[in-house]
Amino acid sequence: MTKIYDLIVIGTGSVGSSTGYYAAKRGLSVLEIDAGTPPHSEGSHHGETRIIRHAHGERSSYVPLVLRAQELWHDLKSETDVDLFHETGVLNIAPKQSDFLGNIISSAQKYDLPINIYDAVSANKKWPQFTLPEHFKAILEKNSGYLKSELAIDTYIKEAKRLGVDEQFNTKVISVNNIDNDLVSVVTNAGTFIGKSAVITVGTWVKDLIPNIPIQPVRKVVSWFEAPEHFSENAHFPAFTIQLDDKVQYYGFPANNGLIKIGRHQGGQKIKTREERLSFGALTEDKIEILPLFDNILTTVGELNHGVACTYDLSPDEDFIIDDLPGKRNIQFVTGLSGHGFKFASVLGEILVAKSLKETIDFDLSPFLLSRFQ
Ligand SMILES: Cc1cc2nc3c(=O)[nH]c(=O)nc-3n(C[C@H](O)[C@H](O)[C@H](O)COP(=O)(O)OP(=O)(O)OC[C@H]3O[C@@H](n4cnc5c(N)ncnc54)[C@H](O)[C@@H]3O)c2cc1C
Repeated sequence: MTKIYDLIVIGTGSVGSSTGYYAAKRGLSVLEIDAGTPPHSEGSHHGETRIIRHAHGERSSYVPLVLRAQELWHDLKSETDVDLFHETGVLNIAPKQSDFLGNIISSAQKYDLPINIYDAVSANKKWPQFTLPEHFKAILEKNSGYLKSELAIDTYIKEAKRLGVDEQFNTKVISVNNIDNDLVSVVTNAGTFIGKSAVITVGTWVKDLIPNIPIQPVRKVVSWFEAPEHFSENAHFPAFTIQLDDKVQYYGFPANNGLIKIGRHQGGQKIKTREERLSFGALTEDKIEILPLFDNILTTVGELNHGVACTYDLSPDEDFIIDDLPGKRNIQFVTGLSGHGFKFASVLGEILVAKSLKETIDFDLSPFLLSRFQ
């Protein structure tokens, strides 16, 4: 007889792996499906690390979510003894009058979050690795830091398996539909699976399953540069975000094994197919997009060592879409994480499980409904 799962996870990457784990912890029978064997480099989660910031510079409505996400990351780290979160602090650097810094300050005030504010002179003295112009300032969030993204996904998947979750990896989902009695049928290239509910957490290529969703896949690159020891975590160099005068935002991590990882949030190439996500270095701009940062604030970093290409799933307003699939029953989806979603993967998994159990959610998810685009 066909097994009927309580929950089928479609796409077991960042959000999917956490959903599978929290569902198993709640005692649900779960099937995790993925096109590859996660963690892998075909989605949006590779490249070792992701920043987690609390006093959000984009929108304060994310703060309650990220604070719960941080609690869950701490719990996962202490329950498994896997070193997946590094509390290095995050230093946010930008022109004094920037909205980004203003939002950090108002988020910190509203939610009573500890931050330290430095003018350019004191920031340059404390972190001589940076050269802030006089009209810049820096805000340190010392309790935030970075997550080891592939390690976190690996941990969720191993722990879920230990709790009895079934895996169907290297399997592509082709369609998701309701059948009799509100059940969900998930059709794959390896057969059809049945669940009482399903979550679609396929990241960039969500249009394959939800064709009309307003998501734009964007090719992004991130690079590693040679860096002296004083850029390392041992030397207490923090993770950072830097917004220049033209509002372009860069981010980076403390150096590891002599290499510092740096990326640029804006830009990249809009793509339609997986094949268009060319490897790092295929485009001239891959190797030069960071240069304005080296001309301006981070002037002593060394030569490019290597890079990788990844993807953002951009929504029109760059805010998340968390909703039930229109016209269907018991099928939810999360997409549009728009290049800032990894830090939330833990709490999004917890929320999807609670929603599948028809529980009341403690967070206001109304800013994230699909209907805002209609
Ligand atoms: C360069 C870069 C830097 C970033 N930096 C940060 C950061 O500092 N902080 C932060 O919070 N976020 C950051 N992000 C964003 C964050 O990594 C993503 O928002 C997050 O990883 C997306 O998670 P996801 O679960 O939606 O997608 P993924 O983790 O990509 O998972 C989707 C999964 O679905 C599977 N899948 C797809 N289609 C199918 C199908 N048809 N059938 C079966 N399986 C399928 C894929 O194989 C994949 O495993 C960054 C992203 C990039 C690219």
